[in-house]
Amino acid sequence: MTSPFRVRRLVVKVGSSLLVQPDGNVRKSWVDSLTSDLRRLRMRDTEVIVVSSGAIALGRRVLGLPAGTLPLEQKQAAAAVGQIRLAAAWADSLAVHDLPAAQILLTLDDTEARRRYLNARSTFAALLAQGAVPVVNENDTVATSEIRFGDNDRLSARVAVMASAETLVLLSDVDGLYTADPRRSPDAGHIPVVDEITPEIEAMAGGAGTAVGTGGMVSKLVAARIATRAGCSVVLTRGDSLHPLNAAEEGARSTLFRAKASPHGARKHWIAAALGVSGVVVVDEGAARALLAGSSLLPAGVRSVEGRFERGDAVLIRSLDGRDVAKGLIAYDAEDAVKIVGLRSHDIERTLGYRGRDELIHRDDLVLL
Ligand code: GLU
Repeated sequence: MTSPFRVRRLVVKVGSSLLVQPDGNVRKSWVDSLTSDLRRLRMRDTEVIVVSSGAIALGRRVLGLPAGTLPLEQKQAAAAVGQIRLAAAWADSLAVHDLPAAQILLTLDDTEARRRYLNARSTFAALLAQGAVPVVNENDTVATSEIRFGDNDRLSARVAVMASAETLVLLSDVDGLYTADPRRSPDAGHIPVVDEITPEIEAMAGGAGTAVGTGGMVSKLVAARIATRAGCSVVLTRGDSLHPLNAAEEGARSTLFRAKASPHGARKHWIAAALGVSGVVVVDEGAARALLAGSSLLPAGVRSVEGRFERGDAVLIRSLDGRDVAKGLIAYDAEDAVKIVGLRSHDIERTLGYRGRDELIHRDDLVLL
């Protein structure tokens, strides 16, 4: 079996308790050791994305807020103060390896609403193509629901899916899944590989928590389910010693939740099966042939557009003779798609007044029928 670390794209999730010392400062030597691991991955052409918690833990000390549970507005205030420091810590440490850090703050909604999903997805792609390391956190100061420790487990899984990563590494304070809580049952057995998250597996995950914050095993399993279903394997391992990614790759104890499909396959499946269509794009013969050969759909090959849809909605691509050739997520809303029918990509800006995507439907967002 190929190593989950030898992949094209990998997301690593870092919890607050790893990153923030009990005195409320960043654990700099640890961050430096992790960014050096990231550098090693980048050197062998694995693109990396970091999902980092720690904003609240860092900010609360600066603001002098008390220990214990804070009311939502104080958490948001702490996050606002802490996020700057968190981002600075990553940026400084990545800069040592000549890696530009890119801050991305998302709400869970951004990963659900298709229009924003498509935007965020292409931003990730653009950053990675430029050699930057996206550092993601939840946008805690504007998130309207209660900030729950553990949400970043879920967020990291959503990010991994959005970015079509093959692997998500959850760096945690436990080295994997056990048949029972190892802190309470000394004879709990470690589970190295999970092929399917069954009710038995779920029953093994009890709640867990530390002073600084961890989502516990339940939220790890939620994350593992989201990711593995979308074709992304999950490695759950202990992250507190230096060079945690190198250690995990060299065989430190962990649990691997194995994905069934590839991210690419799973995404195509999702587009093909799960989404209803809200429009039809009729294309000429040349475009239909290009699609079959694996190309994106450019506006130049389009003859007409029907339906009411928004950017990110699914549409059918039909040939002139009435055959449904493909289905895909369209990069323009209906009003603008109609205006750019038949245009060369470089004429889009003049017509719409803004520079959108060159492709009407990118090949990654498209399945042949
Ligand atoms: N987004 C929160 C923070 O950065 C943490 C959420 C979590 O730990 O899951 O402080």
